[in-house]
Amino acid sequence: MEIIITAIILCLLITWVIRIKKRTKYSYTEDSSNELQYNKEVPSLTSPLVYYGENLDFQDELLRKVLVKHFPYFTQLLPPDQDKFIIRLKKFIKTKCFIIHDIKGYREMPILISASAIQITFGLSKFLLPHFGVIQIYPQEFIALEPMRVLIGNVSGNTINIAWKQFLEGYRNGFDNNNVGLHEMAHALYYQNFETEEHIDKSFKDSFDLFTAFGDQIYMREKQRTIGLYSDYAMKNFQEFWAESIELFFENPGRLNSHYPELYNIICDLLCQDPLRYPYHNYPV
Ligand SMILES: [Zn+2]
Repeated sequence: MEIIITAIILCLLITWVIRIKKRTKYSYTEDSSNELQYNKEVPSLTSPLVYYGENLDFQDELLRKVLVKHFPYFTQLLPPDQDKFIIRLKKFIKTKCFIIHDIKGYREMPILISASAIQITFGLSKFLLPHFGVIQIYPQEFIALEPMRVLIGNVSGNTINIAWKQFLEGYRNGFDNNNVGLHEMAHALYYQNFETEEHIDKSFKDSFDLFTAFGDQIYMREKQRTIGLYSDYAMKNFQEFWAESIELFFENPGRLNSHYPELYNIICDLLCQDPLRYPYHNYPV
């Protein structure tokens, strides 16, 4: 009996050590100055860690440094557009509350996750997604309830939830059509315009009708697996098809354009961005 109990305790200990190792692997341990400082005015800062964007006060220089290091979309922008990106990013961060479900928070977390929202809305006049006041960051896959399932990201109520490990992988592997940041921001942008009564972008909403009409045909074709550009997950429903279309649009615009040029052009007009022809074809805002 004693041996069994010792074996169980040993197994639990090993699992715990593996979990801790996995968690730290994807944190920014290389430079401890990247760690977010506790704001003493905010109560109960144990776990999760809570940071109000209005208190973060990141300087332009820091934002630029983080973006240049981790965010290829930013580095490809012309200097005036980089300035616009920074201005929008600062405004976006200020309006959000970041809840980090980990023992440490890093500056890259609010900066880069907000940057993915700025990326998708960069051509639009409304970019704050005000319905979503809360961004929750998990170290990796997390469990969601009702129904109980393991997720790497979702949008629920006024909250955008993202797994940090998978978020980073999305930008590190820039051409595999997997980018949970863009995926969840696509859902958020849709819900902001179609499920809430506030801050609606009328031209986005009108253009979305065209995406629905044309996208629906492609959705049906992809269901028959004629081309197989989309994953099985995108075939779950039209909302997932929309989110994955955005991942494809930014990660593999050439492939999307060569298979479905009409859909590519519709998304260009919808987001007022053209990744294939930028900066030669730029939409004025
Ligand atoms: Zn989704």
